[in-house]
Amino acid sequence: MLLNICVCPGDGIGPEVTAEAVRVLDAVAQLHDHHFSYDVRPIGGAAIDETTRPLPPSTLEACLASDAVLLGAVGSPRYDHLPAGQRPESGLLALRGALGAFANLRPAVAHRSLVGSSPLRPEVVAGSDVLVVRELLGGIYFGEPRGIEGAGQNAEAFDTCRYSTASIERIAHVAFRAARGRRRLVTSVDKANVLATSRLWRTVVSRVALDYPDVELEHQYVDACAMLLVTDPTRFDVILTENLFGDILSDQSAAITGSLGMLGSASIGGRVGIFEPVHGSAPSIAGQGVANPIGAIASAAMLLRHVGLETEADDVESAIVSVLETGYRTADVAAGSLPVTTSTMGHRIAEAVAEVADMRHPYHAV
Ligand code: NAD
Repeated sequence: MLLNICVCPGDGIGPEVTAEAVRVLDAVAQLHDHHFSYDVRPIGGAAIDETTRPLPPSTLEACLASDAVLLGAVGSPRYDHLPAGQRPESGLLALRGALGAFANLRPAVAHRSLVGSSPLRPEVVAGSDVLVVRELLGGIYFGEPRGIEGAGQNAEAFDTCRYSTASIERIAHVAFRAARGRRRLVTSVDKANVLATSRLWRTVVSRVALDYPDVELEHQYVDACAMLLVTDPTRFDVILTENLFGDILSDQSAAITGSLGMLGSASIGGRVGIFEPVHGSAPSIAGQGVANPIGAIASAAMLLRHVGLETEADDVESAIVSVLETGYRTADVAAGSLPVTTSTMGHRIAEAVAEVADMRHPYHAV
């Protein structure tokens, strides 16, 4: 397969972890005779430094012309003084909007070999496997009007949360379809006891559920869901929720599996999908070679699955598990053992891709 991947490494640890994801993609391409080409473009703070804009038009054009976008992370305290619309994060929001990526899928699986790294007791977290389906282009992150009026003691700030029926329907369909490939339980999360948008959310999701009689639907308030995620995470299968709640709950579900650095995500539904780790730019550890690249590598696996390379995606995911089970750990999940560097972890997973593919080979047992 010929694949044109636009790589946007971004800021902080973004370039370090995307380099390892590309290393693993190269191993996949070599093994299966695919040709992956990479168009590397700046976004976020790196793009501000180069062009003064967090999403330069040339980056957007390259993303639109690609088959998939592999993104690192954006953001740095260096840009905190800039107005909201000019900060690195606004480049990422604009990219998601321009590509029409309305569905963010964040799987959080507690790897057997890492349950000891979770902040939760092993018996609570063992076996948890949650897919958060987050609406990505609506809600309070995009609603207008927004702003700050007045100054000093008289300053008043406001944001707008807005959801249309159509935008709830399309994300609900993504969640129900995903549940069909899993344990067939959708937990729709809202705050319908307080918010009008949540009441519409609940009504629309309940209506969409009628199209999926084989999938169970339950509704939960976001506060109850946050509590259950730490007390009983294995009870969840697919969590379907709006933008702000999804942002928070997906980080929470990531953290309980051991480290934010472990998890990948896919933002899909538009012209081109964006595949990126769930973590941010982690400025305090940038450039030290200690970041966990597994979230970026897991995102690359989601990219492969999205373009139809199922076996290759399975191999990358199996390679991650195999390397973890052999005891390799970056510092964030080392829990007392000697950590390896970002690049050693990337190299090991790239090598393991060939090993797990070899295990599938019919002549392996001979
Ligand atoms: P963060 O995810 O960057 O870091 C949170 C914590 O997790 C830190 O302790 C960090 O060291 C650790 N961590 C994150 N990724 C790791 C990895 N791969 N390996 C090891 N440890 C890892 O979140 P933050 O500190 O709230 O934000 C830092 C910057 O990132 C901010 O500018 C924020 O706006 C931005 N951000 C960007 C994205 C994105 O690009 N999608 C997402 C979240 C935050």
